[in-house]
Amino acid sequence: MITQKSIQEVINIARVEEVVGDFVNLRRRGVNMIGNCPFHDEKTPSFTVSPSKNIYKCFGCGKGGDPVRFIMDHEKLSFPEAIKFLASKYRIEVEETEDTEAQKEQKLVTDSLYIVNEFARDYYVNNLFNRTEGKNIGLSYFKERGFREVTVRKFQLGYALEDRDDLTSSAISKKYNIEHLRTLGLTTRNDVDFFRSRVMFTIHNVSGKVVAFAGRTLSSDKKQPKYINSPESEIYNKRAVLYGMYFARDAVRKEDECILVEGYTDVISLHQGQIENVVASSGTSLTREQVNLIKRYTSNIKIIYDGDPAGIKAALRGLDIVLESGMNVKLVLLPDGHDPDSFLTEKGTDEFRNFLNTHVEDFVFFKTRVLMEEAGHDPIRKSVVIRDVVGSIAKIQDTFARTLYIRQCSVMLQIAEEILVSEVNKVIKAELRKKKEEQRSGEQVPEMSREEEWITPKPVLSQEPPEFVQNDAWQERSVCSVLINYGHKIMEGDENLSTAAYIIENVMEILQYFDSDLCRRILEAVGHELAAGHTPGHNWYLGHEDEEIRTFAVNALSTPYVYADWERKETFLQTQKMPDDNFVRDAENAIFRLQLRKSNRIISELQNWLRENMAADNTGEEYVVNLKVLQVLTERRNELASKLGTVTL
Ligand SMILES: [Zn+2]
Repeated sequence: MITQKSIQEVINIARVEEVVGDFVNLRRRGVNMIGNCPFHDEKTPSFTVSPSKNIYKCFGCGKGGDPVRFIMDHEKLSFPEAIKFLASKYRIEVEETEDTEAQKEQKLVTDSLYIVNEFARDYYVNNLFNRTEGKNIGLSYFKERGFREVTVRKFQLGYALEDRDDLTSSAISKKYNIEHLRTLGLTTRNDVDFFRSRVMFTIHNVSGKVVAFAGRTLSSDKKQPKYINSPESEIYNKRAVLYGMYFARDAVRKEDECILVEGYTDVISLHQGQIENVVASSGTSLTREQVNLIKRYTSNIKIIYDGDPAGIKAALRGLDIVLESGMNVKLVLLPDGHDPDSFLTEKGTDEFRNFLNTHVEDFVFFKTRVLMEEAGHDPIRKSVVIRDVVGSIAKIQDTFARTLYIRQCSVMLQIAEEILVSEVNKVIKAELRKKKEEQRSGEQVPEMSREEEWITPKPVLSQEPPEFVQNDAWQERSVCSVLINYGHKIMEGDENLSTAAYIIENVMEILQYFDSDLCRRILEAVGHELAAGHTPGHNWYLGHEDEEIRTFAVNALSTPYVYADWERKETFLQTQKMPDDNFVRDAENAIFRLQLRKSNRIISELQNWLRENMAADNTGEEYVVNLKVLQVLTERRNELASKLGTVTL
């Protein structure tokens, strides 16, 4: 593990304009710098870098954070990896602590598994190139398929001999652990080689480590399965691996598109034909993990399927998962009797590319068209199709895109748009209800805001308080925004009081009445820090482990005046000075306003209680106490109101 000291050192030295500047062409604009966002496609720059706050924020796609976050998002690295990345940029020596015994042991096992797999890969490759059986059967098969030697070597293709235990005995003679061979599925329980008489495909993870193998039989024996695969192990989760991703990832990022095919040989063939942004889900239907893996590099996915009915069905199965992840899905259907490999071999790269570009279809429309054609004039089957399509549209995350799909599909399905809208809404609501129930039953489900998203369009910037918000979340957010922006600064007139301490002192007693869970969490966390003698600065929020807190902080730091607008709405009379000059007043005002809202709320609750209990018992102890509380609160409320220069009714 990297020591806290090294992490701090990197965080303190990394300058956002330098780190981002390595990847984005930045121009100065006032105190900030702007450029084209590297995370979404844009023509006019909305990607803003603030050197003084050491953060970046894109007003187009919403991505933002500190230099470490930028490297994590841009280079797809974990936190420790990003720290190391920046450390090497700034030539800082990274200190690491020793792993615990358990961690060491686990690492040792995992490392050994990789080492054994590497041995097996080298063994299979050696068979293919240097042993008679491998050369005669394996290599000649690959050559027949048109694979060049450089391609065969790059993808580390190999051959497993017919012999019953050649791999196993050769591994044992080299002192490899038989248990590891069994774990990896290279050796069966009877100490026989698992892969025999097969050409071998090496399966890598994204960082190029060997995690598994697939063996294809060349025999015409129908009882033999065409492909057999390594079993899952500590290093191989087949749901999370895409064949060829290691070789494809740079091209996928560059082309901003990932082509998905079905077979290993399709990947290799396209790659050899200079189409390198291609991966395979290896026969299984696409999993969520695989989609997430692609999403790390691009949000555009083009699926190439064979023209047979089974291929089409498979294509439709994978659809909803991809839509749900917010990816753009396109589909290309090859002419009957062709797979990508054969089609490319016959037509050549240029014609193949041309075909992809001219025959690409939107996935939802494709599904609608194909299913409608299949249903014909049968009204029952047609209604099944409509339901199916409605289900897919409901999975589309982007509201705007969803509206467009509904419009187009209503034409294709010959059904009124309003009906489709209401059907899609029903599905979304049902899903939402299901999610809420799952949440209630304690299952961890990411929070969804799709209901709001559907009923009321999301504001572009979160500066407008939504009209329908009846609670105090907006004021609570203002307090947190001031806290994050200026918490580390010292309050005027009191050398020992930080703004954070001042805010925390003043909100602690109303914290239980907070409407926003997130704001309460932020304030509580800051309270803990202060109690431990640490006043959080910008970096503390930006590097916080809670993603919501991080995101909130970026937004607060890029748009500090979140409450400027509701101020007018609530007829507060005051003029703002230049930002940063008036943080003391900001802090006070934000707190006063929140206290005022809370007081008003508690007062009205108290009044209701007193009204209800007046007749029953107006001399009881509780009644008297509450009456007293009401008086105190009302006085305080009026005081707050006069400080804020507002008139209370
Ligand atoms: Zn962006």
